[in-house]
Amino acid sequence: MPAIDYEIHDERFGRLIHENAGPEILWQGGRWCEGPAYFPAGRYLIWSDIPNDRILRWDEMNGQVAIFEQPCRNQNGHTVDRMGRLIACEHRGRCVSRYEIDGSRTVLADSFEGKRLNSPNDVVVKSDGSVWFTDPSYGIDSDYEGDAAPMEQDGRHVYRIDAGGGVTRVVADMKQPNGLAFSPDEAFLYVADTGRSHFPDCIPKIRRYAVSPDGASLADGVDFAACDAGMFDGFRVDTEGRIWSSAGDGVHCFAPDGTLLGKILIDEVVANVCFGGPKRNRLFICATTTLRSVYVNARGCA
Ligand code: MG
Repeated sequence: MPAIDYEIHDERFGRLIHENAGPEILWQGGRWCEGPAYFPAGRYLIWSDIPNDRILRWDEMNGQVAIFEQPCRNQNGHTVDRMGRLIACEHRGRCVSRYEIDGSRTVLADSFEGKRLNSPNDVVVKSDGSVWFTDPSYGIDSDYEGDAAPMEQDGRHVYRIDAGGGVTRVVADMKQPNGLAFSPDEAFLYVADTGRSHFPDCIPKIRRYAVSPDGASLADGVDFAACDAGMFDGFRVDTEGRIWSSAGDGVHCFAPDGTLLGKILIDEVVANVCFGGPKRNRLFICATTTLRSVYVNARGCA
């Protein structure tokens, strides 16, 4: 029964889900699905299957799945910029790249202060065109999701690429920064820390950083929400400022004040989500080996 697909922690969550419409499996056969991004103009979704070094594409009109690119330099997180271009985090490429309108590829950033990035993981574009991304070490820790290599940076941090291509470090107090997203008004940047994978004392959580008046730097962060099942990886924000985050037992939905509203339960570890469909009210879920979706009564931020 669909009711078992949800866990309601706050009565407000009941209005955000359709209990007669649970999550559905759209595709299965991956090793570690990540990085979903929905293209409204083409009505398709692309996502990463990182260990298999491929990007897949799901066609919303006929449900067919095909390989979009393979090999793909072990891409992980994706987003679509304000011009409809694909922005990609590349583990093996150790860069953030952009797919241009003519099909060519531009490397936006592959180093900071003369040293190679670790392995960019997830990315978001701000309304001013700047590109913000996380740089944990998962893609260079082993050959499974990239090429094993020593870390050149002094840690795992969050960076911003300005319109001119300059790269600045904006967060330096995390163990393994991972998913990230802005609040709808861009007053805050949220960043997940999956540091427990390497540091047992690190509490899996999302932190919130106030964006400074200059729009380009951040104030000190505060803990926003801790994860009670596995770790938060990728997440998205809806138009009302709620956070829909991946977790070990499905998708967790938080109010803007950090209250856990409820969960969409999934029987695989979820790595990332994104909103899509013509109304942006369909939540796509990358869950280990599968791509799934569920309609919710919320709309994702553009
Ligand atoms: Mg991630």
